[in-house]
Amino acid sequence: MRTTAVDKGDHYVLNGSKTFISNGIPADLVIVVARTNPDAGHWGISLLVVERGMEGFERGRNLDKMGLKAQDTAELSFDNVIVPKANLLGEEGSGFISLMVNLPQERISIAVIAVAAIEHVLDMCPAYAKEREAFGRPIGKFQNTRFVLAEMATEAHIARVFVNDCVLKLNAGEVDTSLAAMAKWWTTELQKRVVDAGVQLHGGYGYMSEYPISKAYVDSRIQTIYGGTTEIQKEIIGRMLGL
Ligand SMILES: Cc1cc2nc3c(=O)[nH]c(=O)nc-3n(C[C@H](O)[C@H](O)[C@H](O)COP(=O)(O)OP(=O)(O)OC[C@H]3O[C@@H](n4cnc5c(N)ncnc54)[C@H](O)[C@@H]3O)c2cc1C
Repeated sequence: MRTTAVDKGDHYVLNGSKTFISNGIPADLVIVVARTNPDAGHWGISLLVVERGMEGFERGRNLDKMGLKAQDTAELSFDNVIVPKANLLGEEGSGFISLMVNLPQERISIAVIAVAAIEHVLDMCPAYAKEREAFGRPIGKFQNTRFVLAEMATEAHIARVFVNDCVLKLNAGEVDTSLAAMAKWWTTELQKRVVDAGVQLHGGYGYMSEYPISKAYVDSRIQTIYGGTTEIQKEIIGRMLGL
């Protein structure tokens, strides 16, 4: 993290850039994580609220992604932006703690998206399996197709029960970092597997952009990356296990 905010009395001077920022193009307010004390490690990180129109705050183009075309992803740059002290969110140096407190919610929300996407695939696939015929019968009459869909339905249910439990715990203020990491990596990896199986079940049509399963495939790919990659989630869980 190289973005810095230098204390100048009643304001900070912010310099740096951020890449891959969801909703960065339409956002009027952005919360920037910056180092206010380069020597204090985690305790030198603060959150600054930067407003559209502040001099030196620029946004680049909407980045061209393979999927999630309806959502923008931006690069933001900060060149000597004067940010009043009133725009400090929380205490100076408390930024890392704020992130740690809020990241589990973000990760569970990504798991919720994963479960919704899995259930959507599960709506599409049996319908296609009944309609598409090969070798004189609907493909749903092949045992392999039924087995694939049975596995999908089973895992979708496990995912929903798991995520429902996480949401209940989140609402009760009981979610911990480890549980959120488990939900994030496991449901998003499942989403990738289920969508891939869905494309296979659609045959060549599954590869055609006009088919919703194709869109589900490209949209799913980011899920194991943003919000912290699967590998990082497993690192978090490993650390919570004392390893
Ligand atoms: C569409 C999109 C939207 C995004 N939206 C936002 C946003 O709104 N706000 C925001 O802040 N960020 C956002 N991001 C950034 C996203 O969170 C990061 O891209 C993601 O966390 C991965 O970081 P990285 O790209 O630097 O990958 P890297 O850290 O370079 O990782 C590359 C590979 O190395 C592996 N790796 C890295 N470190 C370790 C390790 N310690 N152990 C094992 N493996 C490791 C990773 O798992 C990965 O496989 C977005 C990204 C995209 C693509």
